[in-house]
Amino acid sequence: MSIDFPENKSETLNSDQPEIVQESGVLPGTLYLVATPIGNLADITERAITVLSEVDIIAAEDTRHSQKLLSSYGIKTKLISCHEHNEERITPRMLAELESGSSIALISDAGTPLISDPGYRLLACAYDKNLKVVPIPGVCAAIAALSVAGLATDRFAFEGFPPAKHGTRVHFFERLTEETRTMIFYVSCHRIVETLKDMKTIFGGQRRITFAREITKTYETIRRMQLSDLITWVETDNTQRKGEIVLVLEGKVLQDKNSTEFDSCLTVLLAELPLKQSVSLAAKISGANKNEVYRRALELKEF
Ligand code: SAM
Repeated sequence: MSIDFPENKSETLNSDQPEIVQESGVLPGTLYLVATPIGNLADITERAITVLSEVDIIAAEDTRHSQKLLSSYGIKTKLISCHEHNEERITPRMLAELESGSSIALISDAGTPLISDPGYRLLACAYDKNLKVVPIPGVCAAIAALSVAGLATDRFAFEGFPPAKHGTRVHFFERLTEETRTMIFYVSCHRIVETLKDMKTIFGGQRRITFAREITKTYETIRRMQLSDLITWVETDNTQRKGEIVLVLEGKVLQDKNSTEFDSCLTVLLAELPLKQSVSLAAKISGANKNEVYRRALELKEF
């Protein structure tokens, strides 16, 4: 796909086309939430580099870690630390800076700030004080994993990190047994096997899951398989128990007492008619959600 850059934007753009805005320069008194790479340093936007270079202060989760990243882009902006243990204490200072007209960029160690990362308290207070907040979007491990998961993406739920303790984790997964949306989890490599085993107990070994490890890094590994097969693979290959991992779990598929009849009906329709027509008819006959029928039709065609 190519993007046409109209010479005269005002004449040629219509409301269906994304507006191409090329704005530079940071605004005073503004809090920027800036996404940074999750591995590959090239995964940063031009706008992120501009904002990080031009703001008065960068608030980083780990200043030593971020210093390396910023140096690689030649950014020399003043760095202060903002992590889960000092966020409450330093928020008033950062708000005072913003109120006096300074611009601040918040970054985390990797990816999009606030996505399983600190910053919520500061952001909430900035809203309470009617300060301007601006997102500088970019990489997020959850979305990168979802985009390659090969599972339904029309509806999904980000579930963050499952609890570390076995009992609480089982309870956490039990609350998700009826979830039909695709679910995304961040999992520590130290707990990957036990977490997968708990998932198998709760969701069943047949459930499809995508394992996304070290996304954008040298040893990037993406595999989609059934939960029981994934456990065997991760248990036998210890490389798969290292690095950073996102799990993307298929939601509960249409599994009620009529599901077998539904599948038979859909299979017959798929054998006789094009996909779109089969889905439309099956949705009308069953009263099921068209997106879910579409998802099931793709699965039936695949197997
Ligand atoms: N804010 C980050 C984001 O936007 O994705 C997430 C921060 S969270 C503290 C760290 C977790 O994100 C890791 O434990 C892992 O589950 C996931 N993650 C981060 N980078 C990753 C990568 N390169 N590959 C796979 N997972 C990654």
